[in-house]
Amino acid sequence: MYKKGVAYIYDAIYQRHNTGSTHPESSARLAAIERAIAGLKPSLILLPPVVVSESIVQYIHHQTQIERVKAASKAETSIDADTVCSHDSYAAALAAIGAGVAAIDRISKRNFHRAFCAVRPPGHHATPTKSMGFCLFNNIAVTARYAQKKGYRKVMIIDFDVHHGNGTQDAFWSDESVFYFGSHQAFIFPGSGSESEIGEGRGRGYTSNHPMMPDSGDKELLEIYTEDLPKSFKFFKPDIVLVSAGYDLHESDPLASLNVTTEGIRRMVRTILDLASDLPIIFMLEGGYSVAALGENVKVTLEEMLR
Ligand SMILES: [Zn+2]
Repeated sequence: MYKKGVAYIYDAIYQRHNTGSTHPESSARLAAIERAIAGLKPSLILLPPVVVSESIVQYIHHQTQIERVKAASKAETSIDADTVCSHDSYAAALAAIGAGVAAIDRISKRNFHRAFCAVRPPGHHATPTKSMGFCLFNNIAVTARYAQKKGYRKVMIIDFDVHHGNGTQDAFWSDESVFYFGSHQAFIFPGSGSESEIGEGRGRGYTSNHPMMPDSGDKELLEIYTEDLPKSFKFFKPDIVLVSAGYDLHESDPLASLNVTTEGIRRMVRTILDLASDLPIIFMLEGGYSVAALGENVKVTLEEMLR
């Protein structure tokens, strides 16, 4: 049995990944979260990330990509127009993975059953060979592999970021031990994630995409989480659940237009937690670019996790 408890994993290093003053994925995002959740901290188990070695990044990423991120950080250059590296970006990216590793280490010792990793850079667009879309390494994909090393055989990844988690889908495309369930806005970055993308080989049927039209709102989002997600749960029977928690589905987000309210996010999170009530669950921050809304939506997530 797991001891009940909610960990919040954060480190100041995440704010030192400097993307410049005009980039939407800025350090102001984490500063806003820190402010918004300050009142909840007495109820949370506050933890730093674990220091991880490169060998853990290699669970998912090719060495050439690791070297590229390292070199881009050292030279303070961009990997592409969206994906910027500063001096501390490589260290921050390792520490973002380290949050997932810290959560798995403690959960596998039954210290608590729920964790929220307030990290940046985000991860779900990073493929095994390519950093892209603000993401350097795929934090949740590496965490899934690390969970498997610790004995969690079947890992379910739920991705509610408004953008399709192409990198995570790629990493487990032909793998029946990790189920990818994603909801996102159709026809925006990165362009993938149609319903026909279901995995292949042994992984066929272990990827489930739920694209939504602009202005879908709470109703359509909640239909996906109350009708489709339970079917995938029943089919897959996961041992652990990891959530790519991107808050750019919110109505105020400047990069998308799904028009989901904070109350809609609360109900979606509650639905996920209810389904996973017997399982350990880790939320890993992805996007969310309306800074004020991001703080509020993470707070709502933590309130539900603490319930
Ligand atoms: Zn996003």
